Amino acid sequence: MNAVLDLPEQTAAPAHAGFAALGDAVAALDPAAHRVAWTSPAWQRLLPTLGAGTALVQLEHALPGLAAALGKDGDQTQCLILGDAHEWQAELSAPSEGQRLLRLADRREQGRALQRQLDAREQLLFTSRVLSVGEMATTLAHEINQPIGACANLLRGLRSRLSRRSSGRLQEAEAQALDRAIDQAMFAARIIARIREFTHSHQPRRVKLDFNRLLRATVPLLDWDLQRSGTRLELALPEGEATVCGDEVMLQQVVINLMRNALDALRTDPPPQPCLALCLLRHHGELELQVSDNGCGLDDEAQARLFVPFASTKPSGMGIGLSICRSFIELHQGRLWFSRNPERGTTFHVGLPASQQ
Ligand code: ADP
Repeated sequence: MNAVLDLPEQTAAPAHAGFAALGDAVAALDPAAHRVAWTSPAWQRLLPTLGAGTALVQLEHALPGLAAALGKDGDQTQCLILGDAHEWQAELSAPSEGQRLLRLADRREQGRALQRQLDAREQLLFTSRVLSVGEMATTLAHEINQPIGACANLLRGLRSRLSRRSSGRLQEAEAQALDRAIDQAMFAARIIARIREFTHSHQPRRVKLDFNRLLRATVPLLDWDLQRSGTRLELALPEGEATVCGDEVMLQQVVINLMRNALDALRTDPPPQPCLALCLLRHHGELELQVSDNGCGLDDEAQARLFVPFASTKPSGMGIGLSICRSFIELHQGRLWFSRNPERGTTFHVGLPASQQ
């Protein structure tokens, strides 16, 4: 509490009390007395040396431009940018005769908050990319390992057959060529083994987390895409915590992938009112997330190839998103499936074992 505060908080006018309750930085100014009459607790935290009783001249030093705004008469609320470095965003109103109310927001803090949000988003996207590359490498390693192993075996077989046929005396150049081909295949197999070893260490980090909170934190990451496409977002989340045990980044990546796919489906065949809905349901021992859209939907062919790696219907799609999502969910002992919506579009369902709170 400010030492020079001469108006007790409870005697403040209702407008002050309302702003104070909202946590706004507000000061009531008394232009006739050339003084600050009252300040809210948030103002006292923001400008501790400029509490009630401060001369308006002194306030003008801290907030250049204020005196000119106070000089203008009228009941209209003025929106101002104050300070030498334009660091304050302000609103000056006249709630009653002879009294002015100044509401302040620190623009630098807004900038810092925005920067923190952008940094967090960048970090998440970076981690997502690392995980995606890891998962893609595992898929590739798995697919390529088989033919490479078969090549090495065939080459070894061919070498011993040829040496038997030429009664143990294979031409030097041919033998060398075959040995080099076998070495190359073995080298490729070792690289693949190394990749698999590396990506196997990407096990989920298991921590108790509130899936409700995770969904609320994830949705804003796509706010720009939702806005740009004019898509309405419907969120149906249960009351209280919805606890699961899992890896926050992996689960967040699944949600983002499913939402991005829904947005793509809406863009492919836009309905009159594009809508993306997230609904979290509590079943016995399981949480079910439904990600629904009223987009283009799935035909039989797309449905059959849905979880096949590298199968995509999009011009720039890689076709690995859903297989990555499914393996992430399976790493959590969960399941991922889909259904066709009766009217239009598709719903993807994520089932995860619920954890005790
Ligand atoms: P990508 O998005 O790169 O194509 P995915 O594995 O995420 O890879 O998706 C594979 C395919 O599944 C997509 O190309 C699309 O045809 C189909 N698909 C995924 N989600 C939806 C959806 N919500 N609605 C319609 N089709 C979808």
